[in-house]
Amino acid sequence: MTKGQFPTDKFQQLQTPFYYYDTELLRKTLQTIQEEAGKHEGFVVHYAVKANANPLLLRIIRQAGFGADCVSGGEIEASLKAGFPASKIVYAGVGKSDWEINLGLDNDIFCFNVESIPELEVINELATKKDKVARVAFRLNPNVGAHTHANITTGLAENKFGIAMRDMMSVIEEATGMDHVKVVGLHFHIGSQILDMSDFEALCNRINELQNELERHRIIVEHINVGGGLGVDYQHPNRIPIPDFKAYFDTYAKKLKLRPGQTLHFELGRAVVAQCGSLITRTLYIKKGALKQFCIVDAGFTDLIRPALYQAYHKIENITSEEPVQVYDVVGPICESTDVFAKQIDLNGCRRGDLLAIRSAGAYGEIMASQYNCRRLPQGFTSDDI
Ligand SMILES: *Cc1c(COP(=O)(O)O)cnc(C)c1O
Repeated sequence: MTKGQFPTDKFQQLQTPFYYYDTELLRKTLQTIQEEAGKHEGFVVHYAVKANANPLLLRIIRQAGFGADCVSGGEIEASLKAGFPASKIVYAGVGKSDWEINLGLDNDIFCFNVESIPELEVINELATKKDKVARVAFRLNPNVGAHTHANITTGLAENKFGIAMRDMMSVIEEATGMDHVKVVGLHFHIGSQILDMSDFEALCNRINELQNELERHRIIVEHINVGGGLGVDYQHPNRIPIPDFKAYFDTYAKKLKLRPGQTLHFELGRAVVAQCGSLITRTLYIKKGALKQFCIVDAGFTDLIRPALYQAYHKIENITSEEPVQVYDVVGPICESTDVFAKQIDLNGCRRGDLLAIRSAGAYGEIMASQYNCRRLPQGFTSDDI
């Protein structure tokens, strides 16, 4: 959705700030993913619910045939409510509590991605009480770096995630001795907003080594799950609204040596939903300081925390102005100096009441909203609804 395509007259009736989701782009993105993944035998794609759990989007994603990758009991509940079959739900997380494990067991979810031996023991114990067998995959920490922001790299030995590779065999042996867990796969996830395919290649190489080692012990798992992490172009949401899924899936098809009958699972979050969402905010005041001018808007980091948390860039457009361009710092109303969306950016001349679209905000936006300063949570609307 480019600047001129936002339904600004309809927006005028809505309470700002709010999220606006372009479902046409979402559907096109989902279709592209299914097409590109479908070219390779055994590729299965899950949507990482933590990127955005808005029920309107979950329903569309479920209808497109995706599974759900969850990282909490709440996400499992949201996924079931949106109609994802339990047989397509995978559940990861370093700190699964008992009620969350029980929820997964009661619903017979597809797989628990297990991150430690103590967790495995608890899953076995809780499954025993229910006389069930939990399917588990081990999340291994491949010690592969990703060329992305330090706060969103997860596959290094220093990160809290996963089981160290050198422990792989002993963990699998330990699980084999348990009656109420069944090892069905290996799981990995190296980070987020990754645009350099060589990072995914490095992961493939590491998995190939691990599979060779397992084969020496005559072990072949049914599934390999490589997580998510494909990035989007935050600079050019109009020019590149759909990430290069072809290059992404082709990389895995070319570099990862699957064993006969193995399926390869993906858990994409950001790449699915980031570009379809914009945070729509209203200009409250233009304040001319000694050195610069501020465009003060009614959205803050409680609505979209990525700039404050990761110094993330989001393209911003004034969607109700064609005035000559001026330079602004776009800032929110929250009492913190980090409540800044962008510094020294070009915008068409801003006046009180103008609407700004903060673009590429569909992932890790609405779902990370908070009520700090007793603010209201932003609502989410789709282009189907308004
Ligand atoms: C966050 C996460 C994902 C999704 O990451 P994206 O970068 O949004 O694709 C996938 N798998 C796991 C285990 C995660 O924690």
